[in-house]
Amino acid sequence: NQDFDVNSAARNWRVDASVSATPSELVNQLFASDVLTLDQLKARLSKPDYRSLQATLERGETLDSSIADTVALAMKTWAMEKGATHYTHWFQPLTGSTAEKHDSFLNPAGDGVAIMSFSGKELIQAEPDASSFPSGGLRATFEARGYTAWDPSSPAFIIRHANGATLCIPSVFLSWTGEALDLKIPLLRSIEALNKAVTPALSLFGASEGTRISSTLGAEQEYFLIAEEYYYRRPDLVMTGRTLFGAKPPRGQELEDHYFGAIPDRVLSFMTDAEMQLYALGIPVKTRHNEVAPGQFEIAPIFENSNIAADHQQLIMQVLRSTARKYGLVCLMHEKPFAGVNGSGKHCNWSMGTDAGENLLDPGETPHRNMQFLFFCTAVIKAVDDHQDLLRACVASASNDHRLGANEAPPAIISIFLGSELTDIFDRLASGKGGRGPEAGLLGLGSSVLPEIPVHAGDRNRTSPFAFTGNKFEFRAVGSSQSISFPITVLNLIIADAITQLTAQLQEKLGDSEATLDSAVAELVKQTYTKYKRIIFNGDGYSEAWHVEAEQQRGLLNLRTTLDAIKHLNSEKNLRLFEQYNVLNERELGARQEIMYDIYFKTVNIEGETTEYMAQTQILPAAISYLAELGDVEIKSKAVKGVAEEVVEIADELYVCLRSLREQNEALGGDEVHDKAHHMRDHVLPAMHEVRRAADRLEKVVSSKHWPLPTYRQMLFVK
Ligand code: ADP
Ligand code: MG
Repeated sequence: NQDFDVNSAARNWRVDASVSATPSELVNQLFASDVLTLDQLKARLSKPDYRSLQATLERGETLDSSIADTVALAMKTWAMEKGATHYTHWFQPLTGSTAEKHDSFLNPAGDGVAIMSFSGKELIQAEPDASSFPSGGLRATFEARGYTAWDPSSPAFIIRHANGATLCIPSVFLSWTGEALDLKIPLLRSIEALNKAVTPALSLFGASEGTRISSTLGAEQEYFLIAEEYYYRRPDLVMTGRTLFGAKPPRGQELEDHYFGAIPDRVLSFMTDAEMQLYALGIPVKTRHNEVAPGQFEIAPIFENSNIAADHQQLIMQVLRSTARKYGLVCLMHEKPFAGVNGSGKHCNWSMGTDAGENLLDPGETPHRNMQFLFFCTAVIKAVDDHQDLLRACVASASNDHRLGANEAPPAIISIFLGSELTDIFDRLASGKGGRGPEAGLLGLGSSVLPEIPVHAGDRNRTSPFAFTGNKFEFRAVGSSQSISFPITVLNLIIADAITQLTAQLQEKLGDSEATLDSAVAELVKQTYTKYKRIIFNGDGYSEAWHVEAEQQRGLLNLRTTLDAIKHLNSEKNLRLFEQYNVLNERELGARQEIMYDIYFKTVNIEGETTEYMAQTQILPAAISYLAELGDVEIKSKAVKGVAEEVVEIADELYVCLRSLREQNEALGGDEVHDKAHHMRDHVLPAMHEVRRAADRLEKVVSSKHWPLPTYRQMLFVK
């Protein structure tokens, strides 16, 4: 009996969980205890060596190779004190997950003696046998291998396991010809592009020389938890991360009693365990709560510099996945593990700030700050309109297609929610009206041309893919399982581009001797806003009316599927954009597009074959054996006859659908990955859908004794 298994597992998790709680007074000491911070390094290096390392960190100068040995020694000593026996370059290939290849510190020194060593050379560069990472044609497998190189701007850390620990060195991954084979290199390049773009703009607003800018990012991670027993009895979850079958449970999220409800004990224990590990890794996790769907939860850290935030986001996913197992649970990161139930996203809260901690998207309290805010906010509006296609493409995946455009996730149409107050300010600026707004409590600007800005834009909208939330923008279309690196790269890049263009226009206006900074910014904001305000939409993004208005009246893009979106990736416009800011060259961008097609094809291909396999070997046989059982009963009863007829009818339908799915699975659609991907979308997905429809109907009529799969009802309501 399936319910029994899970209940007994729920009882046993206490025994399985071997962690002891950290006393609350020690929690702050735990923070970053497994991170090699700059303070740690400083304490372990001579002053000149540390200064030289600092020059590398702050100005990107290459590390003196003689110092590399000293730094490596300090790292090894620290890591061994933490119990590490191995080290690895930790990098982010184009699969979207992380990769590691461990090497031991141990080296034989002859005559049965071994020493523990780690050289500067090993720290700076490594050569994983990386020939089977996807490279989108950038590096044919027979060519020289790619190599990994230390990224000193993200600190090294320790990953622990039951029998020891490993020193992880955040790294980039590139080909011998210097092309980026990973997600970190373009992210670092885009951070630099943003810094370069913002600096001249800020100096117009009087910022001091040498101010450095970086984007900041806080990602809210949604996920599901289900009992491990159920997971292993669902080949679809094991193979594809989502359920390919399953009738909607009688009780879905309609009751809304789960959202923000009390967190079950078992789940809370899991969360606390994961958080303690994340604290040790220096990851500032802050928020945890139940999400909308039953079995769905969220974790969110405090924002950080976006390079570190991207590394930390990967670690958050890794720790959640591995910790769940200790509690007899499986953490599902898929965007849509259960059809008809709320999906999971990863809201990326994005802003940009100076090294002194000033947030450029915070309206602030002085007229001067507000003027600067309006300038940067206008740049974001322009960027999102100019590059709707890129924003859609950077979150495109087979799994996110089930979420975007469905009724509880942002639509596939990119638009901006500004909130009524801020929209009102822009509208008044655009119509040439300054002065005080209608609402009380606004800040006086004391300026004749610029209206005042509310301290906190109060209203909220959950249906927008891109929302202003008081002092940052929240990009909500990002998928829960996806690496945030490419979406942040795109945000940094498109906003750098808009700022560069607007700065040039502002400089031109300031060339006119009559113009003041106030009047020039007001004029620029007015022109730009008027041109781009079609991208602003404060209404219900789920509504049918919006789809019609967006496409037909506003001319916004509605790129419904991954394949519609990724074909824009290497358009002439986007190619020029990526090249102009040195984020990706033509080959690098083309490679990414190629890999996206390939991953899309493979994902749906595996789903198609798994659907066929389960329908053929589990679901159809269940119907048949149930029929056999019914057949044993002498057909006197109307009930027996009625049920048998219904099962026969649906089973026959399933059989027909299954045959056509098999044909589509076998057809593959061509030799080119591009054609295969289209075949998957246009033929395999619809055929899978038909099979599922029949199977889900069977689930409702076949005896539960015969049904081979844990149902939605069982999986979603486990405590
Ligand atoms: P929500 O209501 O969407 O949960 P929160 O106020 O909890 O919003 O914040 C969500 C995330 O936004 C957090 O990770 C937070 O650290 C992040 N955030 C706040 N300020 C900034 C900023 N300036 N830049 C980037 N992220 C930020
Ligand atoms: Mg949010």
